[in-house]
Amino acid sequence: MNERKNSKLAFERACNVIPGGVNSPVRALKAVGTTPLFVSHAKDTYIYDIDDNKFIDFCMSWGVFILGHNQDTVSKAAAEAVMRGSSYGICTEAETVLANKVREAFPSMEKLRFVNSGTEATMSAIRVARGYTGRDILVKFEGCYHGHADHLLVAAGSSVATLNNASSAGVPQGFTQYTVVLPYNDTEALEKYFAEHGDEVAALILEPVACNMGVVPPTREFLEATRRLTSAHGSVLIFDEVITGFRLSFGGAQQRFGIKPDMTTVGKIVGGGFPAAAFGGKKEIMDMLAPEGPVYQAGTLSGNPVAMAAGIATLDQLKQPGFYDELEERANDFCARLEKIIEGKDIYLNHCGTMFTLFFNQKNPTNFQETKASDQERFARYFNNMLERGIYVSPSQFEGNFISRCHTPEILDYVLKSIEESIE
Ligand SMILES: *Cc1c(COP(=O)(O)O)cnc(C)c1O
Repeated sequence: MNERKNSKLAFERACNVIPGGVNSPVRALKAVGTTPLFVSHAKDTYIYDIDDNKFIDFCMSWGVFILGHNQDTVSKAAAEAVMRGSSYGICTEAETVLANKVREAFPSMEKLRFVNSGTEATMSAIRVARGYTGRDILVKFEGCYHGHADHLLVAAGSSVATLNNASSAGVPQGFTQYTVVLPYNDTEALEKYFAEHGDEVAALILEPVACNMGVVPPTREFLEATRRLTSAHGSVLIFDEVITGFRLSFGGAQQRFGIKPDMTTVGKIVGGGFPAAAFGGKKEIMDMLAPEGPVYQAGTLSGNPVAMAAGIATLDQLKQPGFYDELEERANDFCARLEKIIEGKDIYLNHCGTMFTLFFNQKNPTNFQETKASDQERFARYFNNMLERGIYVSPSQFEGNFISRCHTPEILDYVLKSIEESIE
């Protein structure tokens, strides 16, 4: 890697007009104390910056590119759609085509609607769930991220069932008064809360495998309890599969674990690299939406034809027999070898399918309190050492890394060698 002079200049120029120089905070690389990357283009597993450096990417646009960056089939489908017209604000058939493909993967999404981001998907799903149940309370788990809607920016409070303060300025206290935060993987706390307040809960939302506190898989007991307790109390169970959908299997975490939520949100992969996400679920819940029902939700660019084309092209490839088995085998082999490298070094690996996080920690974290105990300075050194070796890992201790179809065994060999050197 060279000195990245162009990136430094680009960042200065960006900072003059864009807050922090970025359009999403983590890109500023503050947590790892280095100049952000400015990308010129990407192909397969490689990103190229404007200083002509080439990096093996493990962020993959936060898990979007399970097929690899800039794949011909997807890029061509999108380009063709652009040439026909990139938006109409009027119905297109592509929306129904992609909706059917999503439903094929997620049979629990009997009806679904497209939006432009994961944030919109979770926000809309929660509104419908509240409209359907006529209740207000939303239960979420500490360390789970569901986008940046006001009532979801709550993470603090490890004690059981605390009505929380927002974790962002600019969110009035009142906006979060119906959001209850519980610790992830704590079945007892969940049971206790539902025993006392279950009948007031509109919805329980969770990442079925947490990825936004670093990868933290659920225990089977915990995941089953989310289904059992919401069913018993008439609350809507929402799986936020914005990351795990089309990632942990074609049908996401719910297929992998055999648990059927009432509602699901998907994003990232489903738009094939364009802004698209979806929320859906039981027909009787989704039919609460306008124009059928009283719950309002809309979007100028929702179901955008370019995003639909890219999504269709992506899902068609993911459906190929053996796609997930082959990729998961490669990921399991990678993780098994990685375990050996980190043994006895106060580094722990959490992984699920093709998602993984290396925690600079005293043990494998199972919840947010435990992931927060990680040594972030050590992580920052590791990140920069990897960058020096031409590898861009996700730039925070609290994020996942993603293996794509383009991460060949040869590339993964090189990465393992680099991790070994980097942590020395
Ligand atoms: C990324 C993410 C979101 C938010 O999606 P955006 O498209 O960034 O708004 C919501 N939930 C989960 C689980 C995510 O990983």
